[in-house]
Amino acid sequence: MKFLEGKVLKSTGKWYHVMLPDGKIIDCRIRGKMRLDGLKTTNPISVGDNVLIDPKFDEEGKGVISNYLPRENYIVRKSTNLSKQMHILAANIDRAYLLVTLKHPETHCVFIDRFLVAAESFRIPVTLLFNKIDLLQKDKELSLLAETISLYQQVGYTCHALSATNKESIAFLKEELNEKQVMIAGHSGTGKSTLVNALDPNLKLQIGEISQAHHQGQHTTTFAEMHPLSSGGFIIDTPGIRAFGIVDLEKEVISHYFPEMRALINKCKYHNCQHINEPHCEVKNEVKNGTIFESRYFTYLQLMLGDDNDVHRRNGRQD
Ligand code: GDP
Ligand code: ZN
Repeated sequence: MKFLEGKVLKSTGKWYHVMLPDGKIIDCRIRGKMRLDGLKTTNPISVGDNVLIDPKFDEEGKGVISNYLPRENYIVRKSTNLSKQMHILAANIDRAYLLVTLKHPETHCVFIDRFLVAAESFRIPVTLLFNKIDLLQKDKELSLLAETISLYQQVGYTCHALSATNKESIAFLKEELNEKQVMIAGHSGTGKSTLVNALDPNLKLQIGEISQAHHQGQHTTTFAEMHPLSSGGFIIDTPGIRAFGIVDLEKEVISHYFPEMRALINKCKYHNCQHINEPHCEVKNEVKNGTIFESRYFTYLQLMLGDDNDVHRRNGRQD
């Protein structure tokens, strides 16, 4: 039997919207026994998955997913606060674009860093998009922009300065997104809808509808959706993206998600150095001599010492 290959655009529990190679979108369910494959997730298949579909559809044109192809990466979160089961939010994310604004609203470095740490932990490459640069007029603002961009470039992240309201400044993105599955993230008000609308006017409507539905149905299961761009590529819309910055990471591995600290693995005197109080710590040395930025180290300390994960566990999820 020769399977068809498809891409999951949306899942609503039992049914999956799957896009076939010819662009046609069909409803599929999954073969019953796939759920019993020993997966510890509540959903065996997620948005962004590439799947194999039985070549025979039923009388109504609905299909059956037989399996999914290996994932490049995926975002998961606990399905409920106490559960050990995980929920896969999205799979095969080629890149996350984080919209950052230095004012209206101000995006703090800690927020950027926490997002980057979470993305590193999921193995998702990130590009920082500094939006609304038309609002930066004063020398002080422009030099802060240059400094911030330089900081993140030195850490190793690609950065672009742009105005989502200026079509020319985002033309490069259309090309970059072609054939890719990407996420667009950022604080509310940083210009996500404006950017998406500029990339493809059809999308704004769809994404707006979803966000609204999400606000109404608080704490109900939220489903991600992937929207095809008319210029090629897909935008993954995951309501759960706000949980992205809050991750349950083992303290031992947090420094691995700071590329500049990861580069110093085994350089400290103690192999299990946490880079906090230990003597002969190469990370602290580099903070002292300025090779590692203080703001980055500050976020690191906050993640290591802060109890915000516990707060979230006590209060229930805030996303
Ligand atoms: P979202 O909450 O991230 O989706 O943000 P929106 O796309 O709704 O944008 C919030 C506000 O910022 C809107 O009033 C936009 O018109 C405005 N905005 C977005 N991008 C730019 C920009 O590049 N320059 C300026 N001046 N305003 C922008
Ligand atoms: Zn150390």
